[in-house]
Amino acid sequence: MGAMEWSGGQAERPGRGRRVLVVGGGIAGLGAAQRLRAHPAFSQLRVLEATDRAGGRIRSERGFGGVLELGAHWIHGPSRGNPVFELAAEHRLLREKDLSEENQRMETGGHVGLPSVTYASSGVSVSRELVVETASLFHSLIDQAREFVRGAAAPAPSVGEYVRGALRALAAGWTDREDARRLRLALMHNFLNVECCVSGTHSMDLVALAPFGEYTVLPGLDCTFPGGYQGLTNHIMASLPEDMIIFNKPVKTIHWNGSFQEAASPGETFPVLVECEDGGCFPAHHVIVTVPLGFLKEHVDTFFEPPLPTEKADAIRKLGFGTNNKIFLEFEEPFWEPGCQHIQVVWEDMSPLEDVASQLQDVWFKKLIGFWVLPSFESVHVLCGFIAGLESEFMETLTDEEVLLSLTQVLRRVTGNARLPAPRSVLRSRWHSAPYTRGSYSYVAVGSTGEDIDRLARPLPEDGAEAQLQILFAGEATHRTFYSTTHGALLSGWREADRLIALQDPQAQLPGPQL
Ligand SMILES: Cc1cc2nc3c(=O)[nH]c(=O)nc-3n(C[C@H](O)[C@H](O)[C@H](O)COP(=O)(O)OP(=O)(O)OC[C@H]3O[C@@H](n4cnc5c(N)ncnc54)[C@H](O)[C@@H]3O)c2cc1C
Repeated sequence: MGAMEWSGGQAERPGRGRRVLVVGGGIAGLGAAQRLRAHPAFSQLRVLEATDRAGGRIRSERGFGGVLELGAHWIHGPSRGNPVFELAAEHRLLREKDLSEENQRMETGGHVGLPSVTYASSGVSVSRELVVETASLFHSLIDQAREFVRGAAAPAPSVGEYVRGALRALAAGWTDREDARRLRLALMHNFLNVECCVSGTHSMDLVALAPFGEYTVLPGLDCTFPGGYQGLTNHIMASLPEDMIIFNKPVKTIHWNGSFQEAASPGETFPVLVECEDGGCFPAHHVIVTVPLGFLKEHVDTFFEPPLPTEKADAIRKLGFGTNNKIFLEFEEPFWEPGCQHIQVVWEDMSPLEDVASQLQDVWFKKLIGFWVLPSFESVHVLCGFIAGLESEFMETLTDEEVLLSLTQVLRRVTGNARLPAPRSVLRSRWHSAPYTRGSYSYVAVGSTGEDIDRLARPLPEDGAEAQLQILFAGEATHRTFYSTTHGALLSGWREADRLIALQDPQAQLPGPQL
């Protein structure tokens, strides 16, 4: 094993305390570090981050003359009680209207708002009436899918199969003409693809039905950060000593249940030793692991030594973690109407009731659900497309030119305007290829339950016979009701920090909220 690396610095305060390492500098890791830093028992604290930046899947970049969110986009359920909303409000990172009581009270049921315009692949726009009616039917089916959490036996293994089953029964009673019926089903297909983006999955057939309703939607109309989501993680960073986070420090293996020593602390033993890819080693009393579930899935056999208990390793394998990416297109002139916020793209040859076997390279772009018009760009006009699943992962393998060409053809076709000017440039996320993320966010997959989230979150060692709380687990995938969100991630980081504080100081008054 390599050299022991634990040097003093601003991050160290005098006196001996518990030595804690946080692995991962996303919002969960930063939140945990900030909470621990406020307690005197945790004077020796470091965050090891694999990449050269903090924020993880919160990633705002300057581009096209504005801010582009490559990762998290909205605060889901921005209302009092949502810690991300509260922090963002405290740091004045939101628009006035998003802070209003009216916005906070809005109940969206977690459904994506209606598009401003819907284009179909034959080059026509779809009537508003049909879109509203179909969206309302789709949302009622999704709401019904959430009800099985209350105990009624789930009639299908997955959300997708449940929705398609209900739809097949309904469609049998439709008296439309064939082309109208096709369009209705094509719209449904698009809404299912939207739901794939929401759940971060290839297909809703992979998302377990019975626990689907455990995910909790908070009140509030989803809002964005005008200056970038990363303003939030930057604020947390600014409250930490500069040398607390060590960048470009990927962790290779976490050795636990051991008795490790270092020359600088004679006589002291540590139960955990964190070994980095560059050979550096950090002995510690406690480690909070916040790496994404996608990374854990890939490295579950080598990241922990001794290996994880079978139940926990199985939870990692069974829970779902898929891909949702964004594609930003920059235009010289908008082809959309003023005030248009969201363009939906529907393929009339697609139906949730039929399986079409095709090569990804021929059809990947049909998974793209449409585009959001980004506000507040000055001289350019920017659309943000969303695409989930294997098609999204395939898109990551293409060149910018290939993506730009395909999407130009899509837009020309659906608008019926063969001369529509091509976008000036393209920029996109590639979350599946990112080695320290390997996808976008988690979901409860067929074959797993919410219990698996709790199993993943349980600290090690589980029996408590050895030194307590050697490895703790945080990150969005460890929050049973808010998985896949920034607020779930932040709350999980706070939860694990509080767990350590309570071990050290059982009388400690822990701050809320504990959602
Ligand atoms: C495209 C996209 C859109 C999204 N949209 C929204 C949204 O609108 N609203 C919302 O609430 N949420 C959204 N999310 C989800 C949200 O971004 C995440 O749930 C949240 O940011 C996760 O935070 P985290 O701290 O758990 O993980 P991360 O932010 O992934 O942090 C984990 C950190 O661990 C580091 N790491 C990994 N492996 C190692 C290693 N071996 N050693 C050291 N460090 C390591 C990583 O580099 C990373 O910095 C979106 C995500 C994506 C990808």
